[in-house]
Amino acid sequence: MNDSTLKPGDTLGLIGGGQLGRMFTQAAQRMGFRVAVIDPDTDCPAAQVGAIPIAGRWDDRQTLEKLAKVTKVVTVEFENIPARSLFYLEKLGVTSRPGWRSLWVSQNRIREKRFLNRLGCPLPKWCEIRVKKDLERAAQTVGLPLILKTAAEGYDGKGQARVESASQLAEAWQSMGQRPCVAESLVAFQAELSIIVGRDQFGGMASHGPMWNHHTHHILDWSIHPAPFGPVVTTEANRIARRVVESLDHVGLMTVELFLTNDGHLIVNELAPRPHNSGHWTIEGSPTSQFDQQARILAGWTVGDTFSSVPACMGNLLGDVWAQGEPNWAEALKNDSGVKLHLYGKTSPKIGRKMGHLTVIDADPRQALSRVLKTRDTLKDQPENSCKSTSQQA
Ligand code: AMP
Repeated sequence: MNDSTLKPGDTLGLIGGGQLGRMFTQAAQRMGFRVAVIDPDTDCPAAQVGAIPIAGRWDDRQTLEKLAKVTKVVTVEFENIPARSLFYLEKLGVTSRPGWRSLWVSQNRIREKRFLNRLGCPLPKWCEIRVKKDLERAAQTVGLPLILKTAAEGYDGKGQARVESASQLAEAWQSMGQRPCVAESLVAFQAELSIIVGRDQFGGMASHGPMWNHHTHHILDWSIHPAPFGPVVTTEANRIARRVVESLDHVGLMTVELFLTNDGHLIVNELAPRPHNSGHWTIEGSPTSQFDQQARILAGWTVGDTFSSVPACMGNLLGDVWAQGEPNWAEALKNDSGVKLHLYGKTSPKIGRKMGHLTVIDADPRQALSRVLKTRDTLKDQPENSCKSTSQQA
């Protein structure tokens, strides 16, 4: 056995204790592991379900040292962990899965696109914007309209703007603080897809998807598995994802977000070296959920079966669902006993904030979608008690 193979009872390290960390913790606990989580909030969603909280920042040495005292492996729930934190953990004898290179590449859109270009992966037309004069050639290189995105720290559509004319470019860049950006061609797509591949330390791989993802205001609204676009698309999505993880020698989960263009080609949008919102259905729909997979790989075990996953739909519950007050859960769920509710333990339901999700398993994935949407509509329309929930939100 490899010396970085762990056994039940051992502690797995986690950086970031939001909903992804919470569902990872639950999966790891089912396999008998303990989890220790670094998060500034000791009542973060992961700590609420039993992860041992280590309060602090992931770039603070003392905090990292506390983690190193209880575990020899660590995983992340988001990609913006500074590489130097992972180097420091490595020095303390803690192996990071995924490793620093996967994070380094995926936490900056310029690095990520250069990497994907080198691999020969299909991308939208793009160019870097670092200084003002780069703006002049952006419209020519990329065409209009285009999308301007900050190179670092953008997510769920934050840090990006659609630019219709060359004259709007300077203003859009200004609004992003004149930080390094990428300008990207606007892709005419028929669907957005994602695929999540897990790769273990022995090079074994297993993937979930591709999923068909629908976004509203740039935030994932629902995902359907399997994406109904046929075997050629599935094979190509798998080929791209496997090429990405192999060339990074990635150990862990990697999500590849893709556009399926109107003329039937796949183009890579972005990478996320972690579990993904579009994979939440796997908790009910796969013999190995994305979080089981993350825990297995982190423990140094081989990847589990994903091949026999079933059709499913996942719909997000954003803070918007609480707009009229606390939803009447009992009322909404009573009409369809197959709807599975997940809430993340967050207390302030702000607009656009991911508070939970619904999953339905159904032989017909479109039927699964309509059941999810029906239940979600009922949640929005039938608040339990709007006065009570308004005061709770304050
Ligand atoms: P991102 O944060 O890059 O994943 O972008 C958020 C969402 O914006 C995507 O899921 C798409 O719906 C949309 N989007 C991003 N880039 C493009 C593009 N180049 N062309 C068309 N739509 C895009």
